[in-house]
Amino acid sequence: MSDGVLVLDAQNRIIDFNPALKRLIGVKKQHIGQPAAQVLAKWPEIVRLYHTHESFKTEIFIDSLTPCYVELLITSLHNERKQLTGRLLVLRDITQRYQAESELRQANEYLQKQVLEIQTLQVQLREQAMRDGLTGLFNRRYFDEIFPKELIRATRDSERVALIIMDIDYFKNVNDTFGHQAGDRVIQVFADLLRYYSDSDSQNIVCRYGGEEFVLALPGLTQEKAFQHAEHIRLSFQAARLESRGKEIYTTVSGGVAVFPDHGKTTDELLQVVDQALYAAKLDGRNCIKRV
Ligand code: GH3
Ligand code: MG
Ligand code: MG
Repeated sequence: MSDGVLVLDAQNRIIDFNPALKRLIGVKKQHIGQPAAQVLAKWPEIVRLYHTHESFKTEIFIDSLTPCYVELLITSLHNERKQLTGRLLVLRDITQRYQAESELRQANEYLQKQVLEIQTLQVQLREQAMRDGLTGLFNRRYFDEIFPKELIRATRDSERVALIIMDIDYFKNVNDTFGHQAGDRVIQVFADLLRYYSDSDSQNIVCRYGGEEFVLALPGLTQEKAFQHAEHIRLSFQAARLESRGKEIYTTVSGGVAVFPDHGKTTDELLQVVDQALYAAKLDGRNCIKRV
């Protein structure tokens, strides 16, 4: 029998045990007749359990020659008059099962951690895929995806959507005169301005559409309101003091304003007319906003 068996009398003295128990907790022949509490002194948990329970099953750790996990089964023995005649303790070595379970638990925890990491990465990737790296604004891919949906929503809600396009003037000169890095900084400053003027809790969509070209979708705004908005941004950018190598970088921006559904029903139509307004602003000497 591979399970260790220990038989106690009614006074909890050892009556008998089998070889498997000897292997498990080192009980010897000379222990027969001795109080189990004395022989099992190293394992007070076992003693406590058979004292307090008639019948009980539990798993315990036994720190013996070869430490092991055992399943302990305690059964009280009675005669036909229901008097206690002794106890039977069965100890089953479950170390292998315990270790396998513990390894499985660890593997499970590791997998769960990995799943969480992958989910976090997926969220980050999705976020990165719709953001522009230099400015943190939404990118063109995001705009092309979201704007048609915004027009569907606006149609359903019978709402206007203003579309503003803005393009930094003579930006090539900034790069040529001050270097690409200074140019990048100018783009970042302009992006910060757009963010500043866009209500963070509004439905406004602010995107870097291309190199130094930006688009803003402003739901619910009339063309006049959108024009005023663009003018604020234009004037703020004009007033911004930017320096490179001790010299001031003087930059301005031009823009166009169109409104859905008045000036176009589709994304393409609106982008086309708003681009024409921007072109008109450029032709008119730049640093100005034109309405469709
Ligand atoms: P206009 O007033 O007509 O808009 O003239 P512009 O010089 O601003 O326009 P153009 O299209 O001729 O040049 C835009 C320049 O923007 C060219 C390109 O090298 C630069 N550019 C595009 N993306 C970036 C960028 O991320 N960083 C920097 N530094 N430059 C960029
Ligand atoms: Mg430009
Ligand atoms: Mg441009």
